[in-house]
Amino acid sequence: MTIREGIERVLESIESAADAVGRSGEVDLELAVKTRTPEECREAAQCLKDFGRPILLGHNRVQEARDTAAAIREVEGASIRLIGPLQSNKINQALACVDAIESIDSPGLVAKLDARLDRRLPVLVEVNVSGESSKHGCAPTEVVALVDAVVGSTNLDLEGFMTVGLNSPVEKDVRAAYALLRRIRDDAEVATGIGGLALSMGMSNDLEWAIDEGATLVRIGTAVFGPRAPRV
Ligand SMILES: *Cc1c(COP(=O)(O)O)cnc(C)c1O
Repeated sequence: MTIREGIERVLESIESAADAVGRSGEVDLELAVKTRTPEECREAAQCLKDFGRPILLGHNRVQEARDTAAAIREVEGASIRLIGPLQSNKINQALACVDAIESIDSPGLVAKLDARLDRRLPVLVEVNVSGESSKHGCAPTEVVALVDAVVGSTNLDLEGFMTVGLNSPVEKDVRAAYALLRRIRDDAEVATGIGGLALSMGMSNDLEWAIDEGATLVRIGTAVFGPRAPRV
């Protein structure tokens, strides 16, 4: 399967899942490109452009975002987004190559980013809705303070919420975690008066459940590119 065929198939899955819940055209595809080569990233970006979609590429690691940024930016309109944890010592490098950060997890990180920015930065607050200790993101109880920090900052724009779902084959448990993020988003819209906040949730193996629970953005890697080789 080529990258183009992979994207085409995933776009069809997204559309049929969205259509089934009356949300046709409301769910975007973000490609999770960790471990992919610059050439693969550029090709994937070009395909999204050819399909007339937003060109969203998510990286887990700042280093990989840097290494692929030039290739990705050959495709006009491409947006590079950080979907993995951001350490303080990588902030400058991250700001040099990403257009949005989906992994905002503490007021301290908000303050540090805000101090170094000289432009607007769209951000998503990452929430650990599954409670698994291996997962990044703030606890659901910390969301209000974190949202306040973002909204009170000078340069960060709250674009929505992100989570890496529960790693489980049990549908109702996976869905419950996504439903929690949706409630968090709904509460934040009321509290802040900001409408249309995004819900970035759902990966290759559970995108239908995530869309059913309200995802507006699904992050897909293996369903498009095939299995990842282990990192060296
Ligand atoms: C790798 C990754 C994805 C995509 O996972 P797949 O199962 O390959 O679709 C989504 N989100 C994050 C944060 C990831 O690291």
